[in-house]
Amino acid sequence: MGIKINMKKYILILCIMALMACDTSTTMGTSGTNNNSDGTGTGGNNNGGGNSGGNNTDLPAGFAKFIDAYTDVYVSGDYVIVETTGVPNHSSPYWGAGHPNYSSPQSGMNVNPNIITAQNFKFYIPLSPTVASSVSSTPLGSIGVSLSGVPFFNQYGGPNNQPLDNEIASFDNYYGHPQQSGEYHYHWEPLYLTSEDSSILVGYSLDGFPIYGPTNQSDGQYPTDLDEINGHTHVTEEYPDGSYHYHATATVPYLIGGFRGQVGSSGGGGYYTN
Ligand SMILES: [Zn+2]
Ligand SMILES: [Zn+2]
Repeated sequence: MGIKINMKKYILILCIMALMACDTSTTMGTSGTNNNSDGTGTGGNNNGGGNSGGNNTDLPAGFAKFIDAYTDVYVSGDYVIVETTGVPNHSSPYWGAGHPNYSSPQSGMNVNPNIITAQNFKFYIPLSPTVASSVSSTPLGSIGVSLSGVPFFNQYGGPNNQPLDNEIASFDNYYGHPQQSGEYHYHWEPLYLTSEDSSILVGYSLDGFPIYGPTNQSDGQYPTDLDEINGHTHVTEEYPDGSYHYHATATVPYLIGGFRGQVGSSGGGGYYTN
């Protein structure tokens, strides 16, 4: 397991070196082809999983990618509702010793005392996100939901919005950990979802805008034009007409630096209950 992380970092370094070394137009031309095939393959896998249970279908393309075995997704009024227990679809030390999905901590991991506990989340994601008049800051707790139903948290730790520095060592192999009441979550790229293709859709922000892995589907490169909250706009597999979206990054804010869209039930924005 530790080897996997090291490989990922190694590949990341290689990619950055390649990015720095290559002329932009050349890189875009060559990797665009590779990336399309990767994107289709991964999408197919997710759809396969999605169709097998008979749920999560007849939804807008992005929402159809939620993984059936872990989520129940349906449209209700102006919202797409994602029901999930929030438990990960992968192994972790945080399942607790004796659990079938338990894996021993990777070397150097500082396991926190919390155990993964099923929740009763209902995420209300706007079907048609509305850009807010100004960017709002993300709160502690869930700020979005991944395709496997595990919530996304922001770039801070509780209770005083301190940087994550002291929590990072407690992340498992897939960059997740549970908080005090057992809510498992990702502050960083959800590594289990992006292990085969780092450009895929990984989930949705509460404001209704999609979140992608660290690379662009268009050219396979790390985006260089992200705004201060990790967002930009272009065409993706799920949004052929283009859409504003966020990307996971290796540096702060990691996922979403703020909400570009409307949040809060009163204004028709996204919210969740648990
Ligand atoms: Zn955390
Ligand atoms: Zn993008």
